[in-house]
Amino acid sequence: MERVPDIKVEPPGPEARNVIEKDQKLLMQSYVRWYPLVIKTGHGAVVEDVDGNKYIDMNAGIAVMALGHNHPKVVEAIKREAEKLQHYSLTDFYYEEAVTSAEKLLSVVPIKNGKVFYTNSGTESIEGALKIARYYHEGKRQYIIAFLGAFHGRTMGSLSLTASKAHYREHFAPLVPGVIHVPYPYTYRCPFNTDDPKACGEAVLGYIEDWIFTKLVEPSEVAAIFVEPIQGEGGYIVPPDNFLPGLRKLADKYNILLVDDEVQSGIARTGKWFAIENWNVVPDIIAMAKAIGGGLPLGAIVAKDNVMDAMKKGSHANTFGGNPIALAAMEAVIDTIKEEKLTERAAKLGDMVLRYFNDLKEELEIIGDVRGKGLMIGVELVKNKKTKEPASKELGRILDKSFKKGVLVIGSGVSSIRIAPPLVIDEDVLARAIQILGDILKEENKNL
Ligand SMILES: *Cc1c(COP(=O)(O)O)cnc(C)c1O
Repeated sequence: MERVPDIKVEPPGPEARNVIEKDQKLLMQSYVRWYPLVIKTGHGAVVEDVDGNKYIDMNAGIAVMALGHNHPKVVEAIKREAEKLQHYSLTDFYYEEAVTSAEKLLSVVPIKNGKVFYTNSGTESIEGALKIARYYHEGKRQYIIAFLGAFHGRTMGSLSLTASKAHYREHFAPLVPGVIHVPYPYTYRCPFNTDDPKACGEAVLGYIEDWIFTKLVEPSEVAAIFVEPIQGEGGYIVPPDNFLPGLRKLADKYNILLVDDEVQSGIARTGKWFAIENWNVVPDIIAMAKAIGGGLPLGAIVAKDNVMDAMKKGSHANTFGGNPIALAAMEAVIDTIKEEKLTERAAKLGDMVLRYFNDLKEELEIIGDVRGKGLMIGVELVKNKKTKEPASKELGRILDKSFKKGVLVIGSGVSSIRIAPPLVIDEDVLARAIQILGDILKEENKNL
């Protein structure tokens, strides 16, 4: 096997600089690039830049490339379908691919008797779920509960739910009214001043029921609760075990729909097909995207049939949702996850990564918290374990150093490293990547 990482020219090399210069001239510059990486191609968990440098990919193109880059089964499926059918809108017509793919998708979701609506992205799945939730209640329930730290997307409806960075919402108000944000049980920094995870989970549930539902709105006016089972953009935050089951109970008590945003955590990443299954909770609606299309723009909403059946003709549609080529890629993704047992693999490799960083946490002041499920892992950096002051400048430096050494990772939340490699990553390549990252952390720890 080739030796990776392999850095031949310090990035950004001449070709990369050329692309970046044009990018700045030609594209809207609202993106936040973590470091000047200019991708050319990839294979498995290794990507190559335009100057010929090879990196270990711990980002998977933001949790999209679960099967790694250019997986032969995905490539084959895309080629095959491209020669058969490229597009014919489901809005007005039928095609077989839409139903065979729906059957396949429904075979892996925790919702029994579900129905599918295809979208083109994460934000579109959330927009659709928002409309479905209101429609299901015949427009009689105007309020939505969402969580601080949540990321649900960037279009106006989903942005109204997003609360991971104030900056994302800056200058865009007024947003969709009726969204009530409540704290998320971020146990390392519990907003309710407790260090006990269980107490933190209970405090959040109690805050919703005893404060929001008595002082602010009647629960009979709340259509849905939107929740990420593990917060992604907010910091790779794993809630305490009592939280999601408690939220399910609360939703049932007041006939509120529980909408599970699995856009980032779904499709085998956390060791289960969907992260919420780690707590044996069945939501009413699941929003998905990112990894589902094997790199092609595809999303889906799956909801219980009684919820989907409430949607009358003409109430919702899109032109491109369920593109046949994207669906062929999705089928290849689902089949391959089953064949290669990638859920189990994610769980096993995740345990190895968690063990490594937990051991390092004992040794280093800079690691405040290590958390995750499967290959969705956050390592939160602090300047001081006691004060928990976030080490955000250090984070930027660490990510940059790691990039220059050939390991691609990005941040999440205020000061966490997010680890989300392709689920097919070789065990020894993964071990090498975390070793390189660990060495950088040791170095940075000295400068605290
Ligand atoms: C990325 C993400 C979205 C938005 O998906 P886009 O495809 O970027 O619109 C929504 N929810 C979560 C949890 C995400 O991680």
